[in-house]
Amino acid sequence: MTSASTSHVFHRLANSVPPLAVGASGIEIVDSTGKRYLDASGGAAVSCIGHGEPRVVEAIRQQAAALDYAHNVSFTSEAAEELAAFLCRATPLALEKVQFVGSGSEAVEAALKLARQFHIERGDAGRHVVISRLQSYHGNTLGALARGGNVARSRPYAPMMVESPRIEPCFEYHHRRPDESPLAYGQRAADALEEEILRIGSDKVAAFIAETVVGATSGAVPPAPGYFQRIREICDRYGILLILDEVMCGASRTGPFLACETEGIQPDIVTLAKGLGGGYQSIAAVMCTRQVHQAFAEGSGRFVHGHTFMAHPVACAAALAVQKVIQQDGLALNVARQGETLHHLLEARLGHHPHVGDIRGRGLLQAIEMVADRSSKQPFPSARGLAAAVDSECRARGLMVYPGTGTVDGVAGDHILLAPPYNVSREALHQIVDRLGDAVETVLGRT
Ligand code: PMP
Repeated sequence: MTSASTSHVFHRLANSVPPLAVGASGIEIVDSTGKRYLDASGGAAVSCIGHGEPRVVEAIRQQAAALDYAHNVSFTSEAAEELAAFLCRATPLALEKVQFVGSGSEAVEAALKLARQFHIERGDAGRHVVISRLQSYHGNTLGALARGGNVARSRPYAPMMVESPRIEPCFEYHHRRPDESPLAYGQRAADALEEEILRIGSDKVAAFIAETVVGATSGAVPPAPGYFQRIREICDRYGILLILDEVMCGASRTGPFLACETEGIQPDIVTLAKGLGGGYQSIAAVMCTRQVHQAFAEGSGRFVHGHTFMAHPVACAAALAVQKVIQQDGLALNVARQGETLHHLLEARLGHHPHVGDIRGRGLLQAIEMVADRSSKQPFPSARGLAAAVDSECRARGLMVYPGTGTVDGVAGDHILLAPPYNVSREALHQIVDRLGDAVETVLGRT
């Protein structure tokens, strides 16, 4: 057995080694002791078609045999071209150009730079500020971290990061006043962007970035109705680009290919990652409009950015195969159907629990939020480590979930995020909710 002292891998928890995963198939992961885990969150909402899909494995084998790697400045590949065309067709929105990178953080970095250089290309070089939101996560690289609201992750690196303005998130459960309609709240939350733009000076602002449905920091928080329409109007009024980070909520996780399709708006730039390659390869994408691309084409002709492994042919082939599985098997429909089932099962099992304050989400991105007091919605202190305790009880029962703690004390509580694969069965959803219910009741007591 590998221990912390014998393992040469620098694990995230420096004094322990996680279980050795030896295999995975469908919705299950198996460790070296033979223990089986129901993978109810696909890691961090990654495994969207389950594990071990033969059509994807075969596509990877064929691509590696035909063309393993060719540098993306010197060559393009059929896999990259086909995948980009597939993604542009997958959404009815006018997103026409795609860049492929290796991870969600890289996609966000590229999006930030794309927005900045877009304005330079158009002779508006004073625009460099990117406004973001509290209670958001955009990645762990320094540029992305500076725009996220995850204080625990950014605190140690604060002296190394650019100062970046953040507005309140759109978070109905915590911020909508009892006498306010969802629509009125959405307008009020969006108006915070205009105030911030005017405070900074609109000629300095390049872009606004937000997760369409917030994932890791707050737990599956959809926007209030009309929120993003108002945001779009404000961005247009001041010539600011709208970047939607769909690293977690995109690629059909909420039903439509892009979560923002539900909002009835047209973003300028969208980032995608987790469900794009479904975990079979590390791949992310930045999609943009023709207008954004045109600024470069008619300007300097060159985006001053790039990575060695961009548009890796094997990663592109894997992602294309994953997307074709979703399409061929009609899985987006299953997301809507099973998302509702999951939500109802969670309501039935935990909806009356005195410490489960909210059950929310969209499609197969669902979460429960645990609070000390349901009427005041007061979270437990983060030092109590509640989400981690529930996570640990889940693992003991052979269930993998994605736990999170409110990133600012008193603003949001501990949550458990569920993001099962799009082909999850009703039976598996029952097992997931049974085990999660047992875990929550073990930590917080019964109703
Ligand atoms: N943006 C969002 C919305 C995310 O959820 C994540 C990952 N949790 C990232 C960016 C960063 O992606 P990665 O971990 O692949 O760098």
